[in-house]
Amino acid sequence: RRAAFAAAKQDPAMTQDGVRIALMINAGLRDDLAALDLTGADGIGLFRTEFQFLVSATLPQRERQQRLYREVLEGAGTRPVVFRTVDIGGDKALPYMRPHDAEEENPAMGWRAIRVALERDGLMKAQARALIEAAAGRTLNVMFPMVSEPWEFDEARALFEAQRGWIASRGRQLPHAIRYGTMLEVPALAEVLDLLLPRLDFLSIGTNDLTQFLFAADRSNPKLAERYDWLSPAILRFLKRVTVQSHAADVPVAVCGEMGGRTLEAMALIGLGIERLSITPAAIGPVKAMIRSLDAGKLRTDMAALLAAPPHPFRDALSDWAAAHGV
Ligand code: PEP
Ligand code: MG
Repeated sequence: RRAAFAAAKQDPAMTQDGVRIALMINAGLRDDLAALDLTGADGIGLFRTEFQFLVSATLPQRERQQRLYREVLEGAGTRPVVFRTVDIGGDKALPYMRPHDAEEENPAMGWRAIRVALERDGLMKAQARALIEAAAGRTLNVMFPMVSEPWEFDEARALFEAQRGWIASRGRQLPHAIRYGTMLEVPALAEVLDLLLPRLDFLSIGTNDLTQFLFAADRSNPKLAERYDWLSPAILRFLKRVTVQSHAADVPVAVCGEMGGRTLEAMALIGLGIERLSITPAAIGPVKAMIRSLDAGKLRTDMAALLAAPPHPFRDALSDWAAAHGV
């Protein structure tokens, strides 16, 4: 069994018709590096930097942040790591940092993530410096959470560029490239994506928040958990539009929400044209096995037809397709 596992780990995540899918893991702590080697994943597609803040009793100072980022980059070696700037505030409140006085009734759509970071910019400046210095001599991939309008991305990027300039002026070694991307998890951004795409190095779709906002359904409310399906035509059509638009602009697009870690959902995403998934480490094996059994071209054609006149429930149509095609 161990030999079979080791062999499967080396197998590329390639479909029957030769489409190579980038399979990456979601991570957030130093210990997650072990999962990178264990799964043989292609990299870390989402490093949630707020985890260090959430498990710490005090605000992690820049040096501590930098140490973590350097260890992650060294552990990843040549594999890419996408660092997401802190997504705190809202329901990820920090005991040592009261970001606002009023209790929020809807913290998920409250003062969080980029909204906090652009206002309390001392926090993001320190993080930018920690990331840029940690990535000296390498490529740094940075991604901003909860961006709703292009100007938020522009301001965040400008803040990083100012830090890069400051570090350069001190004569310190810089990353040889900084690639900037954004999460797409607020539906409004999709409506103005054409304006932002020319300035993006990559895009990553966060289906956890995106789904709750698309359906106006709290992602943590168990009463709604079964009601709205990731495999609904509304979500799939939305994701397809974003994927097609990004590819047309030559911007790589990934899915980093939990959706991509479920086999049938991952299959559907590939059927929409997604070729990059960042998922929970435990899902790498099953999702890779699915990919290796899949004819992506056939699925893309059949899904386009299904989405034009969607049967209900759509999930059943997709699992029937999978069963009929040996997936
Ligand atoms: C998401 O919203 O899909 C996402 C990946 O970010 P988080 O789960 O950390 O909010
Ligand atoms: Mg999110």
